[in-house]
Amino acid sequence: MSLRERARRERILEKACAVAAACRKCQIGYDRRNNVYGEGDPCARLMLIGEGPGETEDLLGRPFVGRAGDLLEKMIGAIGLAREDVYIANTVKCRPTLHEGGKLRNRAPTPAEMANCRPYLDEQIDVISPQIILALGAPAAKSFLGNAFAITKGRGSWYEGPNGIALMVTFHPAYVLRQGGTALTETKRLVWSDLKKVRARLDDLAEGKSSPQPALFE
Ligand code: SF4
Repeated sequence: MSLRERARRERILEKACAVAAACRKCQIGYDRRNNVYGEGDPCARLMLIGEGPGETEDLLGRPFVGRAGDLLEKMIGAIGLAREDVYIANTVKCRPTLHEGGKLRNRAPTPAEMANCRPYLDEQIDVISPQIILALGAPAAKSFLGNAFAITKGRGSWYEGPNGIALMVTFHPAYVLRQGGTALTETKRLVWSDLKKVRARLDDLAEGKSSPQPALFE
């Protein structure tokens, strides 16, 4: 990728980020502290897409930070990638919340919020044009594959994503963190199996370029 092309993409994403930061299409646009547009390599071959920002992301204005972010970094590290090698975004750029027991809690984005925010995500996908999209969790997967998509059955397979980009679905790191005991071991095993497929496809697409040996994340 030429430096000029990288700079061109950075400029477009920067402008789009500023537009999203001023967006108030949904109520959560008024409720959130920071707009969490996305971050990473504008020329990334792999794009990771989760459902929406949580409390820490909202506070810092960055996607996948805190415990789920740490695990995500371990997950991609297991296939030889660092955070700065990929692009990370969400289906909605503002934190979806609800008031419960006097506290503000995270919730899944509504279909209307995802539809409102979709142009921002589509633009990111168009500009970055990754070779692979990895959707993290059911809401992100459903935004590409429809509401009938069931993650327990459908994860780990290849689908045709937006712009014909190869799409894989795996569990969200926050879901992995909620597991315990044998469920945790089994969930990690499934995520690991999905990640290995992503690594293999990236290698195939790189036409025989050597890559680091995958190693299971802890
Ligand atoms: S979630 Fe997306 S569409 Fe809704 S207010 Fe935030 S940036 Fe705008």
